Amino acid sequence: MNREEKNKKLEELKKEVIICQRCPLYKTRHLPVVGEGDHDAEVMFIGEAPGFNEDRTGHPFWGAAGKIFDELLASIGVKREDIYICNILKCRPPNNRNPKVEEIKACVPFLDRQIEIIQPKILCTLGNFSTKYILEKFGLSDKIAGISQLHGQVFSSQSLFGSFKIMPLYHTAVATYNPNMKPILKKDFEILKELLLQEKII
Ligand code: URA
Repeated sequence: MNREEKNKKLEELKKEVIICQRCPLYKTRHLPVVGEGDHDAEVMFIGEAPGFNEDRTGHPFWGAAGKIFDELLASIGVKREDIYICNILKCRPPNNRNPKVEEIKACVPFLDRQIEIIQPKILCTLGNFSTKYILEKFGLSDKIAGISQLHGQVFSSQSLFGSFKIMPLYHTAVATYNPNMKPILKKDFEILKELLLQEKII
């Protein structure tokens, strides 16, 4: 799929997300957060759900967790505009509560399409919710465990667009309430950097 086709498909998807009423979250959110970045990115990050700042601006990872995310990316020499980032839920759950199973079920068809359009070589999942969903989706249910066990590991999988890697990471929000987690995240991003070099992405 060339860049124009990707742009067109992602534009269509955005329009659908804006008018989506598949779950009740549309009633309480301000703006949906579809996702953004390079539509031809080789690395795609999947977080959990928009928080306060994301809900107000429409941009993913725009608050405290986003600041840490940007720092970690910069630490390995990657720019945000060179990756694609989105969430498993496109609308903010009230008071940032965890996503509900039925909300995930309603929303993931959008994420599935984003993955098919972008066709990343590396899919980084941030936190437990996206990790579980992606491992299950790509036939790696037997690997599912808590993120404290899975973070920094790299799994190989196949999709309709070829082979690709899945790398679970801690959600960057963990470092906003526990600064001791930052070095652990940093170490995982170093592993990601090695993978990017190995795959000749950087
Ligand atoms: N946490 C997420 O998972 N996604 C965001 O966009 C912001 C915070």
